[in-house]
Amino acid sequence: MKVCRECHRILEGNVCPICKTSHLTDDWSGLVIIFDLESQIAKSLNITHPGKYALRVR
Ligand SMILES: [Zn+2]
Repeated sequence: MKVCRECHRILEGNVCPICKTSHLTDDWSGLVIIFDLESQIAKSLNITHPGKYALRVR
């Protein structure tokens, strides 16, 4: 799976549906699933849409 470098979202395809970018990487680690955008982790990662995200992207 690849990760968007802009929002760190874990993607199925080759374009991030949120950023509309193909600026992706497969060099990432840590997976977090965000359901609640008000949660501390969502805020600290600046996540604006629920979904799966990488904790670290290089
Ligand atoms: Zn993105």
